[in-house]
Amino acid sequence: MKKNISLKSYNSFGVDVISREFHEVSSEEEVIKTLKSLKNKKVFILGGGTNILFTDNVQIPVINVKIKGMKIISENNNYVSISIGAGEIWDDFVKWAISKNFGGAENLISIPGFVGGAPIQNIGAYGVEIKDIFVSCSGYFLDTIEKKKFELNDCQFSYRSSIFKKSLRNKFIITEVVLQLSKTNHKISKSYKSINDALNKKKIHNPTIKDIARIVSKIRENKLPNPSLIGNSGSFFKNPIVSIELLNKLKQKFSKLVYFKESVSKYKLSAAWLIENCNFKNIEEKNVGVYKDQALVIINLGNATGKDILLFSEKIKSTVLEKFDILLEEEVNII
Ligand SMILES: Cc1cc2nc3c(=O)[nH]c(=O)nc-3n(C[C@H](O)[C@H](O)[C@H](O)COP(=O)(O)OP(=O)(O)OC[C@H]3O[C@@H](n4cnc5c(N)ncnc54)[C@H](O)[C@@H]3O)c2cc1C
Repeated sequence: MKKNISLKSYNSFGVDVISREFHEVSSEEEVIKTLKSLKNKKVFILGGGTNILFTDNVQIPVINVKIKGMKIISENNNYVSISIGAGEIWDDFVKWAISKNFGGAENLISIPGFVGGAPIQNIGAYGVEIKDIFVSCSGYFLDTIEKKKFELNDCQFSYRSSIFKKSLRNKFIITEVVLQLSKTNHKISKSYKSINDALNKKKIHNPTIKDIARIVSKIRENKLPNPSLIGNSGSFFKNPIVSIELLNKLKQKFSKLVYFKESVSKYKLSAAWLIENCNFKNIEEKNVGVYKDQALVIINLGNATGKDILLFSEKIKSTVLEKFDILLEEEVNII
């Protein structure tokens, strides 16, 4: 256990706060031992810190999950199931899967963070979410230290959400995730406009998972700031989901509104478009700004504090509310 360490290098916003008590756990035994030693104290579970905004020093103990390991636990001619330690780097897993020609994770390439953090908000990108390849995750309740396995249907996965962000928020530590990938007949997900455009440009008619991974990596590289150079946590807000009635009302007022069909009666508005149309793109305040190529990404331009970033995000929220009557919801976890 370490005392009073800076969490600056443990969060992708690069916010400098102090953790009063910092525990690193590298095995399930260490998880149990640490939780026992903390005697039911409230704790904070930290993965790669890529979806967190720390607004103050963290007074409660932090448990940083570093459990490694990746192994095939079952397979047949078509599918392979892989057990992955929660402390593995998500992108290492995706690249490993691609190198083995296992399909299903390629659209989720280059998402930062750890494997254990991925089910928390049901990570998603370019038409795929972790729920599409998810089998189960296991771990421990923080209060009773009871072990539990959550299967796909237990996790209440939805757009950037799961049971771990709702009723089990800060109540469960994930130690292992099991995912299932295809070995043959890969289901190539290329419906996203930017993927389709790139495939057409390259004249690729039957893309492989490697083609998709290469294209998605490139799109992300051009659109998102690298957190090791510019502090950020990816999308700060979720895209708001609205009814067809509200969409039609908004379209009458804002003819260029950007939206996507979500289900029969629900539509997803582009939060980036809403923010851009409140003129936030070139505004900087107290070392905080909006990324030039993606308005949904709030960036730390220097030594911004978590509070500076939070204040700036609240300003965005209230301006969008005033102009469009839409309340943005944070995707990032504010601590
Ligand atoms: C540049 C950039 C691009 C991004 N792009 C995307 C994207 O395309 N799609 C997307 O969905 N997300 C994206 N993200 C957000 C982020 O990468 C993911 O949400 C990631 O899965 C977070 O994992 P983490 O290990 O960093 O979690 P952390 O940030 O450490 O934690 C996030 C939350 O999960 C909890 N948590 C973490 N690990 C565990 C565990 N083992 N057990 C229990 N609780 C845990 C924490 O307590 C916290 O509440 C992006 C972020 C950045 C910086």
